[in-house]
Amino acid sequence: MTTHYDLISIGGGSGGLSAAERAAVYGAKCAVIESGKMGGTCVNVGCVPKKVMWYGAEMAAALKNAPSYGFDVNVYGFKWEKLVEAREAYIKGINDWYGNYLTDSNIDTIVGSARFIDAKTLEVNGEHYSADHIVIAPGGVPSVPDTSGAELGITSDGFFALTEQPKRVAVVGAGYIAVELAGVLNALGSDVSLLLRREHFLSSFDSMLRDTLMEEMVKDGVNVMPNIACTKIEKVADGSLTLTFPNGQQLTEIDQLIWAIGRTPNTQSLSLAVVGVEHDAKGFIVTDEFQNTNVPGIYAVGDVTGRAQLTPVAIAAARRLSDRLFNHQTERKLDYNNIPTVMFSHPPIGTVGLTEEEARKTHGDAVKVYQTRFTAMAHAFTAHQPATAMKLVCVGAQEKVVGVHVIGQGADEMLQGFAVAVKMGATKADFDNTVAIHPTSSEELVTLR
Ligand code: FAD
Ligand code: NDP
Repeated sequence: MTTHYDLISIGGGSGGLSAAERAAVYGAKCAVIESGKMGGTCVNVGCVPKKVMWYGAEMAAALKNAPSYGFDVNVYGFKWEKLVEAREAYIKGINDWYGNYLTDSNIDTIVGSARFIDAKTLEVNGEHYSADHIVIAPGGVPSVPDTSGAELGITSDGFFALTEQPKRVAVVGAGYIAVELAGVLNALGSDVSLLLRREHFLSSFDSMLRDTLMEEMVKDGVNVMPNIACTKIEKVADGSLTLTFPNGQQLTEIDQLIWAIGRTPNTQSLSLAVVGVEHDAKGFIVTDEFQNTNVPGIYAVGDVTGRAQLTPVAIAAARRLSDRLFNHQTERKLDYNNIPTVMFSHPPIGTVGLTEEEARKTHGDAVKVYQTRFTAMAHAFTAHQPATAMKLVCVGAQEKVVGVHVIGQGADEMLQGFAVAVKMGATKADFDNTVAIHPTSSEELVTLR
C-alpha cells in the first residue's frame, strides 16, 4: 500500500524540516524522511556543535585576558571530554525537541533512506510513499581528496566525534570549516598547521577580511602553510601521521589530519536518474529561482543545490517554496543577493554584500570605500590585542552601501542589523544619520570618514 501526502521532504535537516513545517501550517499533509539524526548537518555535525566549540575557544581567550582586568586566575587545565559531553547532551535535547515538534505539528516522520520509484513515489525500507510535491533536501557530505592515504584523515564529522583533544593537528582546506576548526583547536591548545593549496584562504571574502584574519591567526600561533598540497599520508610506528609534500618536505607527528575542502551533494542513494532530475557536473541539483527542478512537482532546497550553503538560506528557500505551493503566493521565492554570513574565527568575521574587489569589477570608478582599523576597547590593555577592521563599500553619487565587512570582537552579533540596512538599499548618508551607540565597536560603522 502507498501512503499519500501533499508534501514529502527528503531529509530532516534545515531545508527539509522547514518546507514541511511551513506547508503543515497551511493544512497540508506532510512527511519528513530522514536516514540519520533529525536536525541534519546544522544541528548534529555543523553550526550547533561548531558554535559550542567556538564559545569554548572564546572562553579560553577570555581566561588568558582576565589577569589584565585584575583577576588572579589559576587555570588547572581544560577537559575536552567534558566540553564534548555537555555539547552532545545539548544536541540530544534539540533532537528530542524536533521529534516532539513534528508530532505536535502533525508531520509524519519516516525513518530510513529515500529513493525515487517514479516522479511522485518514494521507497523507504520497502514501503512506498507518494506525494503531489517532493522536496529534495538531503544536504551534503564532506569531500575527501584521492590523495594516497587520505582515508587516514578525518573530516568535520570526525572532528565532532573526537573524544580526546588531538595534540598536533593538520587542517587542509581554505574555506569556512578549515578556518573555523583551525581557530578553535588552536585556541583550545592544540598545535595547528593550516595547509592552503593557494597563497590565501577565504578567496571569496573581501581581501581586508582575509588579510587581517591571516595576520591574527599567525599571531595566535597557527602554522599557516600556503601553496602546499600533500602527495602522501602515512601512519608511522607510533600511530601518528606523516604528511609528505611534492618537494619532499614532511610534516611529522600529526595526531589528526582534518580534510575541510568542501562538501559533496548527498544524492547518490536517491536514484535521481529514474526520474531524470537534472544535476550539474559536481552533482548539485539544478533549480530555477523558484526551487523547481526540471521535473514538475519535484523541488530542491539547501546545500544540495550548491548555492550559499548556509542554514538560514536552506530555511528561507524552503519556507518560501511552501508559501508558494500552499498559500497562493505565486511569486514567492528567495532572493540570493545580500546574504549575510559570519565566520566564527578568532576574531570573528561578519560580511554582507559585494567585496571591494567585486564592486570595482562591476562599478569601476563609481566605487568609494570607507575603512578603519583599531583595537577594540575590550583589548586596550590586555596582553592579547586582536585587531578590529571595518569596511563600507559604496557605489554611485548616492553612495549606496553595497558591502559591509567587519572583523573583530562582536562582528558576529553586529552584522545582522547592518544586513537589514543593506537589503533595504541604505546609503552612506543613512548610516551617518543614525546616532551612534557609545562606547561600542559598531559605532565606527556610522561615523566613518
Ligand atoms: P542537511 O542539514 O545536511 O540535512 C540533510 C539531511 O538529509 C541529513 O540529515 C541527511 O541524513 C538526510 N538525508 C540525506 N539523504 C537522505 C535520503 N536519501 N533519505 C533520507 N534522508 C536523507 N551554516 C550556517 O548558516 N552557519 C554555521 O555556523 C554553519 N556551520 C557549519 C559548520 C560545519 C562543520 C558544517 C559541515 C556546516 C555548517 N553550516 C553552517 C552549513 C549548514 O549546516 C548547512 O548549510 C545546512 O545544514 C544545510 O541544510 P540542508 O537541509 O540542505 O541539509
Ligand atoms: P568551502 O567551500 O567553504 O571551502 C573549501 C575550500 O577548500 C575551497 O574553497 C578551496 O579553496 C579549498 N580546497 C578545495 N579542494 C581542495 C584540495 N583538494 N586541497 C586543498 N584545498 C582545497 O567548504 P567547507 O568545507 O569549508 O564548508 C562547506 C560549506 O559549509 C561552506 O561553503 C559554508 O557554506 C558552510 N559553512 C558555513 C559556516 C558558517 O556559516 N560560519 C561554517 C562552516 C561551513 P581554494 O580554492 O581557495 O584553494
